[in-house]
Amino acid sequence: MIAHINEWFDWMKAGASYHPDLGESGWLAILPQRKPQAELSADIEADYCIIGAGFAGLAAARRLLQIHKTARVVILEAATVGSGPAGRNSGFMIDLPHVLSSSSYAGQAASDQRDIKLNRHAIAFVREVVDEFDMPEEAFRAEGKINAAASHSGVRANQEYSEHLQKLGELCELLDARAMQAITGSSYYLGGLRTPGTAMIQPALLVQGFADGLANLVNCELFEQSAVVSIQKQSDRWKLSTAKGSVLAAKAILAVNGFVENFGFYRRRLMHVNLYASMTRELSEREVSELAGEDRWGFTPSDPFGTTVRKINDSGGHRLIIRNRFSYDPGLVPRNEQLQRAAHDHDQAFHARFPGLSAVTMQHRWSGRLCLSRNHAWALGQVAEHLYSACCQNGLGTTKGTVAGIIAAEMACEQQVDSLMPEFENDELPQKLLPEPFMTVGARTYLRLREWLAGKDR
Ligand SMILES: Cc1cc2nc3c(=O)[nH]c(=O)nc-3n(C[C@H](O)[C@H](O)[C@H](O)COP(=O)(O)OP(=O)(O)OC[C@H]3O[C@@H](n4cnc5c(N)ncnc54)[C@H](O)[C@@H]3O)c2cc1C
Repeated sequence: MIAHINEWFDWMKAGASYHPDLGESGWLAILPQRKPQAELSADIEADYCIIGAGFAGLAAARRLLQIHKTARVVILEAATVGSGPAGRNSGFMIDLPHVLSSSSYAGQAASDQRDIKLNRHAIAFVREVVDEFDMPEEAFRAEGKINAAASHSGVRANQEYSEHLQKLGELCELLDARAMQAITGSSYYLGGLRTPGTAMIQPALLVQGFADGLANLVNCELFEQSAVVSIQKQSDRWKLSTAKGSVLAAKAILAVNGFVENFGFYRRRLMHVNLYASMTRELSEREVSELAGEDRWGFTPSDPFGTTVRKINDSGGHRLIIRNRFSYDPGLVPRNEQLQRAAHDHDQAFHARFPGLSAVTMQHRWSGRLCLSRNHAWALGQVAEHLYSACCQNGLGTTKGTVAGIIAAEMACEQQVDSLMPEFENDELPQKLLPEPFMTVGARTYLRLREWLAGKDR
């Protein structure tokens, strides 16, 4: 379906702006320094040009090359790979329904079945990439995760979600407070719900390995620090211009997450939210043994508006990562004061859970963008002739971004067999937002209320 063609002309007037996220992602900071791929500094041609090197863009490039083995594919990334949301998330590649607006992540049975199928496809696709590009073990571990409950309402949400999963025929295991303490070393949690299918990733390591693996292929080129500032139709091709060069491509895929609005598409249909995270300094051997518990674990909160916690013990040493707070930022520009507020909440959440680690401070703090729609629909599809969008992942971008990239590539290649396209055919467009100021006031009030209701789970 060709949608929003007229909106593109709006973009011509507005111009595409790109704003980096705030703070350096701890995931990136604990990795050895990587040499970015070169900036685009010439006028070149390609069969396909992909804009954005997050999960969606990288998956699109790999899928295009699987289908069209000899095609020339160029990826343009505004920042350096791993410094955007793809490298600054909490690293849960979740296979199960994960509806943030629900009280327990459960959605409708029919859409949940489809989500499970697509999410597992994405996890398998990324696992193949990890093997193909020979990434270290810490990039991707199929270890499962736990929904952690610190309140009685959290325990009820876990119970509700486990019943929903059982109806869907999915494996899960309820844990009591003692089991949770054995895992974490903390007496904070009342219970948990373990689900085995989530892959726990080191997001920055994974996307860097993915991007560099693609860039090493003979017919794929990746240019970093090369923000696309204009797109123009030139006869039957698209010209994508950066500050110092351009790509003339037969087909192009926009994999820029919420920034797709800046290109004139899906205007007033996408909700832009920032999430916030902090990572501790490396724990000393004494702190690790005093904390006890297992070496590695990942907890999503049983209330979707609670606190996510991970413990890692890889190349950056033993560390804990805390994520909570949402802010609604319709202009796509992150706000420093929100990062400061979140930092305060992260310290509170950390010390409440780990009072024995009172001397441990946070070394890295950051924010990152999330793109949502009111009806949980993707901004996915053909938006103009030979131009496709793979955006708006509704909170589960590691898996849904991968799926969106795969589907956009299959659309661009008109791949009918062995394709995920039929799974997507009848999807709606993202629903229109309410008029301002009702949308912003309503969204901010909703977020604050849900965070407050999360109580001890936050
Ligand atoms: C703190 C935090 C925790 C999260 N936790 C999880 C989690 O545990 N699990 C999960 O599934 N999801 C999580 N997410 C969400 C997830 O990170 C995103 O949904 C995911 O990265 C989206 O992938 P994407 O490829 O669509 O977009 P992005 O990762 O945002 O990639 C888009 C890329 O496009 C580039 N770009 C933008 N404009 C231009 C331009 N003009 N020219 C060229 N390039 C451009 C950007 O620089 C960016 O690299 C979290 C997000 C945050 C911030």
